[in-house]
Amino acid sequence: MLFALGILLYKMASTTRSSEGPNEQSSPLSTPFGPPFDDADAEIILRSSDLVDFYIYRAMLSKTSPLFKTMFSLPQPDASVSEKQRPVIDLTEDGETIAALLSFIYPLAPESISLRGMIGARVAAEKYDMAVIFQHLDERFGVSKIVQDSPVEAFCAAYSHKLGEAARAAARASLKYGMSLDDIGDKLQYTNGPALFQLWKYHRACSAATAKLVSDKHLAWITDSDSDTEPHRTLWSFARSTCTTCSCWKYHYTVGPSRTRWDVAAPWHTYITQAHAILLERPYGKAVAHRSVVGPIFNLEACHICRNTLAGLPAFVDLLRKEVETRVSEVRHFLAHPPDTSPDGSYRRSI
Ligand SMILES: [Zn+2]
Repeated sequence: MLFALGILLYKMASTTRSSEGPNEQSSPLSTPFGPPFDDADAEIILRSSDLVDFYIYRAMLSKTSPLFKTMFSLPQPDASVSEKQRPVIDLTEDGETIAALLSFIYPLAPESISLRGMIGARVAAEKYDMAVIFQHLDERFGVSKIVQDSPVEAFCAAYSHKLGEAARAAARASLKYGMSLDDIGDKLQYTNGPALFQLWKYHRACSAATAKLVSDKHLAWITDSDSDTEPHRTLWSFARSTCTTCSCWKYHYTVGPSRTRWDVAAPWHTYITQAHAILLERPYGKAVAHRSVVGPIFNLEACHICRNTLAGLPAFVDLLRKEVETRVSEVRHFLAHPPDTSPDGSYRRSI
């Protein structure tokens, strides 16, 4: 690692040269990025591989990167450079990536970052030893709109670059969508086979782990304790005790380790059946608790006694939602160690 950083440091220092300022480019081909990376009193220029210039304060890079701090402490290659001139540091990343990277350390930087920029910035942050930034990126990646809206594409990109935490965040985000080819649709063109196969296995494992919660008439995950220390148990007792006193057709369930009998009216059975179907397609806790799923259950036909038992349905739904999230959190092994790139580097073609 130190050797690699040393090589990088040497390359960066050896390509450092001077520039007169934002309006006096040392290279006629380079283009200023513009605000907020255009301060006239900035001491250095970061130049991207596609020749975009970023005017940066030295202290901001030193604060976030020990690598840059060390580099700035070394004597400059050209000692005759005047105070008005500033060194240019050529980087191998493109402008989109550098803009994304700097957005995490620069005030007033644009907050909207593309998936490609975010992945590139995460890789660059690790390369330049910017620990604070890549930790921040990992936290932001999973909750970002682009990952929530396009989790399959995000997963493939993160997986291909061996960004384990980002890949796991994208995989979790994918659970609220189906995983069939029709579900993925046009975004299939932005995926790659090995990564998609891993995501599909994870998705299927989560479906299997969660759908079995409501796959038969025994609900083992529900405690049948009469304890009133937890609200859901009180409501569960209410539903169980009043459901058998009418003449409606009942569905026979059992709950808990002691397999306590629970006879429910049609609305309960309908909800459980629908929850199973949903979890097979989308193993996502909020999917079984969504009002579009739960709301219509209260309108199903039942006598007033059975309808009263539905007062316990929200607690049942919430308990199932939490159990789904628990079971999903236990499915991690498929994503624990993203593999290395294939010999021909084909994993890296996704972004
Ligand atoms: Zn009834």
